Amino acid sequence: MSEPLRQPKKKNPIARTRLPTRPPAARSRTAHGLTRAAAEGRFELQVCADCGAVQYPPRELCGACLSERLRWEPVADGGMLVATTVLRHSNDLYFRERLPWRVGTVRLDAGPSAIAHVHEDCAEGGRVRLALKLDRSGQAVLHALPEKDTPNMHDAPQLRESTCDPKYRRVLVTDGKCATGMAVAKAMLAAGAGTVFLGDPSTWKTLPAFDAFAASDERLQVVGLDVTDSDSVERLAASIGGKVDILVNTAGHLRDGGVIDAKGVLLARDAFEVNVLGLMRLAQAFGPGMRFRAADGTNNAAAWVNLLSIHALAALPARAAWSASQAAALSLSRSLRAEMGTAGVRVMNVFAGPVEDEWEQLTPPPKIAPAALAKAIVGGLKDGVEDLYVGDVAEELRQRLRENHKAVERELGA
Ligand SMILES: [Zn+2]
Repeated sequence: MSEPLRQPKKKNPIARTRLPTRPPAARSRTAHGLTRAAAEGRFELQVCADCGAVQYPPRELCGACLSERLRWEPVADGGMLVATTVLRHSNDLYFRERLPWRVGTVRLDAGPSAIAHVHEDCAEGGRVRLALKLDRSGQAVLHALPEKDTPNMHDAPQLRESTCDPKYRRVLVTDGKCATGMAVAKAMLAAGAGTVFLGDPSTWKTLPAFDAFAASDERLQVVGLDVTDSDSVERLAASIGGKVDILVNTAGHLRDGGVIDAKGVLLARDAFEVNVLGLMRLAQAFGPGMRFRAADGTNNAAAWVNLLSIHALAALPARAAWSASQAAALSLSRSLRAEMGTAGVRVMNVFAGPVEDEWEQLTPPPKIAPAALAKAIVGGLKDGVEDLYVGDVAEELRQRLRENHKAVERELGA
């Protein structure tokens, strides 16, 4: 059984911070089918459309009948752990710093055998389930996990390398005063976060619910943070930038309005100021520190979470400027992912459907409760995914965009 993770000690300020290293990252274009599945937390392998054989490792032609018609499909993740070994030596710098490392061979019920990282709670000769996870290079790797969850299994150092579990980590919620921000903070505390910094964008405004929440747990710290103000962002980064392990950007600006009838660009400017330039200010102020601390012990800097709308992928003409700002934020976030990825810090994009809050008051259901959205975000961090779709609206739009994006465009415009 995994040892429970211990609360990390206060860091010795004189000790040198370990610089981040990354596991080997080269993959073929075909193998990125695994990356796509891992990024969304699914287990998919290539299946031959002619003979039905499941393939692993990824390939161009079916290993059984040489057909070219291989499709990525969800397959059964169960299997038998045939053999294991513990690596005590490695020529690779990343693994050398993390030895000993357990690996093994799993024979999948679906057919093929695969070499995987093996969780310490898996017994040789026993049943396991395989999971596709992204490693610190952002590449898909196989983890053999216990068939059923075991106590503290998420605390195992090997699994923690591929996930971003909030346990004992310090979290900054950029807008901790909105309904979603408070819910995210609450979920982080429930998941064992060490400290949650609650960004307050409007210190001049009293909100009794916020004050009561902030006083409800000693791990909560209110910090002034206005993402539209460079000074405010830089001041906060100077004060707590070296401590943030997970940043959740909940700051957002949502107003209705089309393109032609918007009467000027003021609202559009406000939306971009918060949703796009706000993200950029945060990245410039907090990004360097987080990258530097990507290998800093148990509570290393692990993840950057951007809360976006599913309309980042499909414009809603009734909210034209807002949709455009969401699309711009998504584009920026993908570039940020490449930059943070050089150190191994994960950028998770959350695509949410309409949330049950004051700005979506007139939006018809289904809507997501802030608590459900927050729970999904924590779940996504624990699983280590990088694209998370939350709510029925987001899930349906994602599928329909894949099937026929023109139909979606016409229907959203109607
Ligand atoms: Zn075949």
